[in-house]
Amino acid sequence: MNTLLLNTNGVQIPQLGFGVWRVPDDEAATAVSAALKAGYRSIDTATLYQNEAGVGRALAGSAVPREKLFITTKLWNSDHDRVEAAFEGSLKLLGLDYLDLYLIHWPVPEQDRYVEAWRGLERLFKDGRVRAIGVSNFTVGNLERLMEETQIVPSINQIELHPNFPQAEVRAFHEANGILTEAWSPLGQGKGLLEEPALGTLAAKHGRTPAQIVLRWHIQLGNVVIPKSVTPSRIRENIDVFEFTLDPEDMAAIGALNTDTRLGPDPATFNRVG
Ligand code: NAD
Repeated sequence: MNTLLLNTNGVQIPQLGFGVWRVPDDEAATAVSAALKAGYRSIDTATLYQNEAGVGRALAGSAVPREKLFITTKLWNSDHDRVEAAFEGSLKLLGLDYLDLYLIHWPVPEQDRYVEAWRGLERLFKDGRVRAIGVSNFTVGNLERLMEETQIVPSINQIELHPNFPQAEVRAFHEANGILTEAWSPLGQGKGLLEEPALGTLAAKHGRTPAQIVLRWHIQLGNVVIPKSVTPSRIRENIDVFEFTLDPEDMAAIGALNTDTRLGPDPATFNRVG
């Protein structure tokens, strides 16, 4: 598995991990166990997903040593002023004594507490409770403000990113500032994207599936990617993307699918705290 270097202490993140959004707690253990068996070592959950306990059961039941795993969870929007308690709650549900990566889930501009929340994450990092800290759904403006007002530059920004919404401007800002880009909904949530004829053509050319073509595009762009599936055959399919290469013209054909369309909320206006 390819790994990418984070900007803190030489910590490496697997470039491809397993996402568990919308996987109910009682199914999360089965899905994560299947992912670990298929070779995934990085798992992405969040307090919001209400499945940290299920993820924790899979980790506890696995023979994979803790130091080979990379576990990410996220601070929910209502917890920006109680970072330490929220973090401890997540660790307890996951059954872990440290975390690999902790993210602020959304900036929540109306609430305007993300700088305070970031200082909380900085404390956890300095105390050695988490190996790396980052953000999710932060705009360039949000990142610039953090960099002006706080000490540590986020390791990673997890954002919506897929061929219909490639986020070139945010990626360029990340690259210029040593921040890794992590793509959420990398497969466009498996909706219309995977039926695009251009992807079908590339799938036939490389003897792969449209999902594998899209994941390979992410890998070659340098994104960290966290596809989700609860179907064991797809879980295996989605990690099997390291043994073929897209040509520059293939990358351009996928680039042409840009419609500048989001599937999820716009961080500039998303203010949900409940
Ligand atoms: P995704 O793009 O990974 O798509 C998942 C869906 O695609 C599956 O439910 C399935 O229907 C389909 N699919 C998966 N593999 C397939 C295959 N091989 N062939 C055909 N169809 C396939 O969408 P996602 O779950 O929204 O995003 C991935 C992860 O990103 C989440 O699980 C979560 O961990 C994270 N995420 C984070 C945020 C955030 O705000 N930070 C928001 C959304 C998602």
